[in-house]
Amino acid sequence: MDKIQNFLNNGNSEIQCDITKLANDEIGHLNDLDGIDCPICKNKGYILLDDDNGVTQSLVSCKCMHLRKVKRLADESGLGELLKHRVKNYEAKEEWQKKVKNTAAHYVRTDNNCWFCMLGQSGAGKTHICSAICNAFMEMYKDVRYLAWNDFATFYKENMKNVASKDLMREYQQVEVLYIDDLFKGADTEYDIKNIAFDLINYRYNNRLKTIISSERSFKQLCELDEAIAYRIAEMCQDYLIRIPKTQSNNYRIKKSKV
Ligand SMILES: [Zn+2]
Repeated sequence: MDKIQNFLNNGNSEIQCDITKLANDEIGHLNDLDGIDCPICKNKGYILLDDDNGVTQSLVSCKCMHLRKVKRLADESGLGELLKHRVKNYEAKEEWQKKVKNTAAHYVRTDNNCWFCMLGQSGAGKTHICSAICNAFMEMYKDVRYLAWNDFATFYKENMKNVASKDLMREYQQVEVLYIDDLFKGADTEYDIKNIAFDLINYRYNNRLKTIISSERSFKQLCELDEAIAYRIAEMCQDYLIRIPKTQSNNYRIKKSKV
């Protein structure tokens, strides 16, 4: 009791240390939420440090909070298995692959409002590159959503008047970073589907929201499908519109698996 009274009166440093230790020994429960176990803060997310004067303390955010935030963003992104992709792991033996890799790395580094779009046949590593860009942005604390175009368009078309699907559309329209995977996949693209794409892309175009797009369509095919959509993509992408010619895109996956 005398010690505490002394501390209250004079800021005794001996008991100060005790308070710091007691506070830091306290067990938190953040691991119950995200499964990350941190021995430094004992899952509280912060630690108490003695200031230089030895009298006061400061509450400091623990290093694990970065990991926790990135994990939460990743869980919410819908990327699932695609979270494993990194730009540095994209195999670039041929010139066009090196160009793709450099362009993606430059896009992440500059982090401006441009969009990124990769067009070409399957097998060019489009999903790898686009999801790797998303992963890099999540590590910068950006809120990212993954949208598999066909699944979303079919669901939205069938549930257009439903509040839940409108909410989903709004979420995809407004999220900080959106990755639209396989835009206009499939042989036929109906009027309704083009309208859904326009509502989504036009909103993001008007609000200059970062968007990453992959598609098996060529730019010419995109123009034929819907000029307004194609031109908005081209305008927003500028140098980050990558077109992989058919002859080059074959077998990224096949070649990779042989190595
Ligand atoms: Zn921690």
